[in-house]
Amino acid sequence: MKPEMIVFMGGQGSGKGTFANLLLQKHDFNYVEAGAILRAMPSDSEIKQKISRGELVGDNDLFPIIAPHITSDHNIIMDGFPRTIGQAKWLIENYADKFNIHVVFLNISEATMLAHIQNRIKEGGNRADDTDENAVRKRIESFKTTTMPAIEWLSKNKDIEFLDIKLPGDDIDINFALIYNKLYK
Ligand code: ADP
Repeated sequence: MKPEMIVFMGGQGSGKGTFANLLLQKHDFNYVEAGAILRAMPSDSEIKQKISRGELVGDNDLFPIIAPHITSDHNIIMDGFPRTIGQAKWLIENYADKFNIHVVFLNISEATMLAHIQNRIKEGGNRADDTDENAVRKRIESFKTTTMPAIEWLSKNKDIEFLDIKLPGDDIDINFALIYNKLYK
């Protein structure tokens, strides 16, 4: 039997990391958090400079960094990857035969994204790319122009399950219950 791959997709502040961690408390998964893997790169690297400017790391730089984290002997949660059509195609081409892939699109408005990032700052998150207003704006813009087309492409792919989950409000437990029930129906 193929292992499961749960792919959380959504804009900034949509709760990918929060819901991934809640799911990890319930079931045994490997956890691949693209942003954290990239932030751990050397601080003088070009990748770190891109992150601080709020720009996406290029697909061809990213694939060799992400691939070793995707081991196909275990269930896995992907958080923050894929974010481009190129990444989405790469994932399907290389892994749809190895995993049952479920994409969970956390569908929230741009206003909610901004509000959630403001909260993250107030709660003392120490991410430099969150406090730089220009970087935040750029990340939301690249979500709309680059990641939304990848989400739309995946929504039409017949080899995977695609769940479009409109989060009804800000209650984390209610939102998680909704996600969980759709995944484990
Ligand atoms: P957020 O979802 O709030 O943008 P992340 O921690 O997921 O935060 O990502 C931080 C930064 O890491 C992104 O702004 C981008 O520069 C880089 N990054 C993360 N995932 C990817 C990806 N799949 N492709 C390209 N760049 C990425």
